[in-house]
Amino acid sequence: MTTVALKDVSKVFSDGTVAVDKVSLDVADGEFMVLLGPSGCGKSTVLRIIAGLEEPSSGAVLLGGEVANGLPPRERGVAMVFQDFALYPHMTVGDNIAFPLRLSGLEQDSRTERVSDVASVLGIGDVLGRRPNQLSGGQRQRVAMGRAIVRRPGLFLMDEPLSNLDSGLRAELRAEISALVREMGVSTIYVTHDQAEALTMADRVAIMRKGVLQDVGTPTQVYGRPATLYVAAFLGSPRMNLLEAAVYVHLDRYVELALGEQSLYLPWDNIRSRAVAHYHGERIVVGVRAEALTPVALDAPGDVVRGRIRYLEHHGHESLAFLDIGATAIIVDEVGGPVTESATGDGAMRRLSRFARRLAGRPAEPG
Ligand code: ATP
Repeated sequence: MTTVALKDVSKVFSDGTVAVDKVSLDVADGEFMVLLGPSGCGKSTVLRIIAGLEEPSSGAVLLGGEVANGLPPRERGVAMVFQDFALYPHMTVGDNIAFPLRLSGLEQDSRTERVSDVASVLGIGDVLGRRPNQLSGGQRQRVAMGRAIVRRPGLFLMDEPLSNLDSGLRAELRAEISALVREMGVSTIYVTHDQAEALTMADRVAIMRKGVLQDVGTPTQVYGRPATLYVAAFLGSPRMNLLEAAVYVHLDRYVELALGEQSLYLPWDNIRSRAVAHYHGERIVVGVRAEALTPVALDAPGDVVRGRIRYLEHHGHESLAFLDIGATAIIVDEVGGPVTESATGDGAMRRLSRFARRLAGRPAEPG
């Protein structure tokens, strides 16, 4: 097991591309850290620098507290799993998994025993004699995992290991991988551009943009209290409503967001960032998640805001309404309440359209 520390690590490629820009990050012993960000933001380069496949242009990489700059990859005690699995096509599954053990000089009997242990953990014991092209995508991914865990490394580096698989298999394997590495207690750095993967698997998520680290925290922290506007807009589906509004703070009671002619009142207990209190009377950008807003009937009592529905999106487990409140576009969750199986299809659509009419101030059709 090992810790990882990056200190002001930068990477400028020979063509002048700044792929990584002064990134500092600590990964604790046994921690599952996910590097998340859009394509080209520098995630893989950070991973390759930690693996020793790329030298940083400046900054230090510490593994287990020791400076690792200049150390060859094989001396770093890390195992990598890649997006394309990188299996040897001419070798059997068993030989692929055993390969790192052969390199380390372990004798045949111990190799066979270790390979069979790993294969049984991963549920691929019955395909050890096949070649990679005789396997499904999910099996290939398990073989790649097997080859990574067989040496019991101190650190796993995983670069989009699930991105070549279909969505059902991805969900299944992400649960398996996170259970497996946690059971082994091995520190893991996992690169992905898929936020669902990041938020479900990580102990902590590090979000990058254009080579720069934007935010680091537990999934709850980065989702609930994003450090930058970029992270606020990037994380979550549907995207967070970023409302530009004058704010009036009524301490301990509510925050009023003045949206043109109407105001949105947010109960003080629901306010995640109390820093809003510093901006009383100012125009700022306030992030409001769709699930924090509840649609109500037009004649409901209390401080309600009227919006006009532009369109509805039905997602099965939830429904979203895209509204205009004056000139402000906003997304609201759970229109019409949770949709049960018996209420899908026409029934659900009728209910949504009834709801839309109610919100838009038109009489609902019977039925
Ligand atoms: P993806 O999710 O698409 O793999 P990423 O976030 O992992 O993207 P990197 O592969 O780390 O991003 O690339 C970061 C930037 O560095 C990109 O602009 C990329 O084009 C550039 N880059 C990567 N390798 C090289 C190289 N060898 N020479 C020049 N530029 C490079």
